[in-house]
Amino acid sequence: MPVEEVTLTARFKVDLTDVDESAISEIYRLFEEYKEIVNGLLELAARNHITSFVELYHARYHELRQRYPTLPSHYVVNACRHAASIYKSFIKSRRRSVCKKDRPTFRGRAIWLHRQVFRLDVEGWRASIAVHGGRWIALRLLHGEYHERFRGMELGEARLVLGDDGNLYLNVVFFQMVMLPEVGADAKVIAVDINENVIVYGNEDFVERFETNEGIIRSRYFLKRRRIRSKVRGKELQRKLLEKYRGREWNRVREIHYKAAKKIIDKAVAAGATVIVMEDLEVYKENKGLRELNGRVHRWGYGKFQRILEYQAKLHGLNVKYIDPKNTSSICPVCGGKLNPSQNGRRLVRCQRCELEEDRDVIAVKNLVKRYYEEYASAKTSQTSF
Ligand SMILES: [Zn+2]
Repeated sequence: MPVEEVTLTARFKVDLTDVDESAISEIYRLFEEYKEIVNGLLELAARNHITSFVELYHARYHELRQRYPTLPSHYVVNACRHAASIYKSFIKSRRRSVCKKDRPTFRGRAIWLHRQVFRLDVEGWRASIAVHGGRWIALRLLHGEYHERFRGMELGEARLVLGDDGNLYLNVVFFQMVMLPEVGADAKVIAVDINENVIVYGNEDFVERFETNEGIIRSRYFLKRRRIRSKVRGKELQRKLLEKYRGREWNRVREIHYKAAKKIIDKAVAAGATVIVMEDLEVYKENKGLRELNGRVHRWGYGKFQRILEYQAKLHGLNVKYIDPKNTSSICPVCGGKLNPSQNGRRLVRCQRCELEEDRDVIAVKNLVKRYYEEYASAKTSQTSF
């Protein structure tokens, strides 16, 4: 049985009501100094074109230790790591000419917390953060049902985040080792086809639909953002509003994604399936010429949903396999004939050869299932022919 590591990020709001003022000002001091350090490192990185963490670390660590002698050293180490990562993604976005600036600036809204500078008590939902001079500050974490799943998982790194709403958040990475069933010709599978407004899933026995209306929600927020850009005066206010709506949009879509993932996993478990089959979207990115994929590549929501479904599935002991989706909506899953739009309905397609008439989403699901088994059948024959 293959063993895999699944990681999940938990987001906690920090309850600051019982925290005394000196502790709060210590935390703000941490944000200020961390921001100073990272921005200093970014300046150095941009000047000398340094993208490596190790190089930044060697260039500045001792100097920074002297300048901030009471700050736990792990903050300096992580600031180097953080700066290297910001500079790397800056270079990338400049290469794609998304960014016109000559060097990146760090707004200082997040601190990467090394495992040595924070503790988490999952039983009492409390965190402690190391600040200046060896002092630890205890923080109560607001938690809900959603956080229960993290009990019993291994603790990874964390980030302390100053939200635009003025609240303090702690984002913690958890991981868990999971045993997964084999992906192969004997497995029962459920294929999942993701569309703009609906997710369709099933196998040879059944096909179901989950209406996400994601496309509709996204267009609505797109219009909202356009209105903000044209109507709201003041760059700072505009940025804040845009960020707020982007956050709301993503929260809404994410909630729907989780619901859809749960529905599919429950169904898979009930049907005795052990593998979830999805389209490999990387293929789309590589073959930009394919007509079928028009516009699909840019719908980043597909990838986000796939990641949610993948780790949720793995946490539930299901394996995940990605399949090349080329032609899955244009070829008949029964006879391999070419499909044409049907006169009997907008979403229906019809096979020229065997006259099968079916919803195009159902076709995609059946073709993904078929292709999955073809892949393993051919793997078997090529093995035995040796
Ligand atoms: Zn056919």
